[in-house]
Amino acid sequence: RPNPPPPLPRRPGGGARAGRAGGAPPPDGSALAYDKLLLATGSVPRKLPMPGLGGRCVYLRTFNDALAIRAHLSAGNRIAIVGGGFIGLELAAAARRLGAAVTIIEAQPRILMRGVPAEIAEVIHQAHEAEGVKILCGEGIAAIADDGAEVRIALAGGHDIVADLAVIGIGAVPVTGLAAEAGLTVDNGVAVDAELRTSDPDIFAAGDCCSFPLALYGGRRVRLEAWRNAQEQGALAARNMLGAGEAHAAVPWFWSDQYGLTLQIAGLSDEGRSIVRRDLGDGAFILFHLAEDGRLVAASGIGAGNAVARDIRLAEMLIAKQARPAPEALGSQTIKLKSLLAA
Ligand code: NAP
Repeated sequence: RPNPPPPLPRRPGGGARAGRAGGAPPPDGSALAYDKLLLATGSVPRKLPMPGLGGRCVYLRTFNDALAIRAHLSAGNRIAIVGGGFIGLELAAAARRLGAAVTIIEAQPRILMRGVPAEIAEVIHQAHEAEGVKILCGEGIAAIADDGAEVRIALAGGHDIVADLAVIGIGAVPVTGLAAEAGLTVDNGVAVDAELRTSDPDIFAAGDCCSFPLALYGGRRVRLEAWRNAQEQGALAARNMLGAGEAHAAVPWFWSDQYGLTLQIAGLSDEGRSIVRRDLGDGAFILFHLAEDGRLVAASGIGAGNAVARDIRLAEMLIAKQARPAPEALGSQTIKLKSLLAA
C-alpha cells in the first residue's frame, strides 16, 4: 500500500500496542489499541495463472461462491473442474447428485496426490467414475477461452473440454500480507511457535494462515487447511493470549464425504515408511503408517458412512501416545485397537 501510517506508540505503562500491525488503518481511519492481537486471516484459492478466464470460470471459497456454483448444478449442465483435490472431488460428488455432467482435469498422475495414499485415492477415483464423472489425470491445460456463454478448455494433450461452468480448485494460499507488512516472520504462512505466537510476542496467528511446529513429528513445520485445525487453533490461541502457555498438541485430522463414502486421515501419512492394512468389512479399510522406529504416525481409512470413524479415532489416540503397536496386531481383524491403546 502506498502510504502506510507510521507505527503508533506503545500504550504508556505496559507492553500494549496501539494501531494495526503495520499497513493501512481501518477504513474509517481510526486505530484500535491491543494488548494481544490474533491474525486469523485464513487462505484464498490459488489462482490459475492463465489468460482467458471470464465469468464462467470460478473459485469456491465463500458461501456466496457456493450459491453461485449451485445455480449451475443441474441436469443438462456441463461442469469442468480443474484440480482433483478435495474441493474438486467434493464438488464433483455434489454436482453428480444434482444431475450435472462433470469432468475433472488433474495435473498430477492421480487424484489426491498429496497426503492421501494411492490405495485410498483409487477407491475414491473408482467411486467417481462409477457415478459418471470423467477424470483426466496428468493433463496440462494449454489454453482457456470463456466467451460468456461457455468455457472451452484446450488440454495440452490435444482435445478440448467444453463446459457451462469451470470451477478451479487448485489449492489454497495463506493470507500473509498484513503479517509481512508488519515485519512478522512468514514461512509458508505466518510462522508461529508451539503456542501460536508469531515473531512478535504480542501477536498470535491461527488456522489456515499460519505454519506451526508439530511436536509429534519432531517439530516439523506444517500448515493445515482443515476445519478442525482452525477450530482447535482458534481456541488455543485465545487461551494463550490470556496467558495459558499451552503448547499445540493435537494430531492433524480431517475427513471428506463423497457420495456414500467417508475418508478420514489422522496424522501425517508422508512420515510413514511402511504401511499395514486392516480390513473392516464391506470394502472399508484402514492403512496404518509406521515410521522406521515402529511409531504409528498416521492412519487413513475409507468406507461407507461412519465405518472407519471409531478406529481412526482410536488410531489418533495411539498416534498422540507415540505408540509402537505390533504391525501384526494392527493388521489383525480380531485384535481390537482399543486393546492396543490400553497396552
Ligand atoms: P488441493 O487439495 O491442494 O488440490 C488441488 C489439486 O489441483 C492438486 O492435486 C494440485 O496439484 C492440482 N493442480 C494444481 N494446479 C493445477 C492445474 N493447473 N491444473 C490441474 N490441476 C492442478 O486444493 P483444493 O482442492 O483447491 O482445496 C483447497 C484446500 O482446502 C486444501 O488444503 C484442501 O485440503 C482444503 N479442503 C479440505 C476439505 C476437507 O477437509 N474435507 C474439503 C475441501 C477443501 P499440485 O499438488 O501439483 O499443486
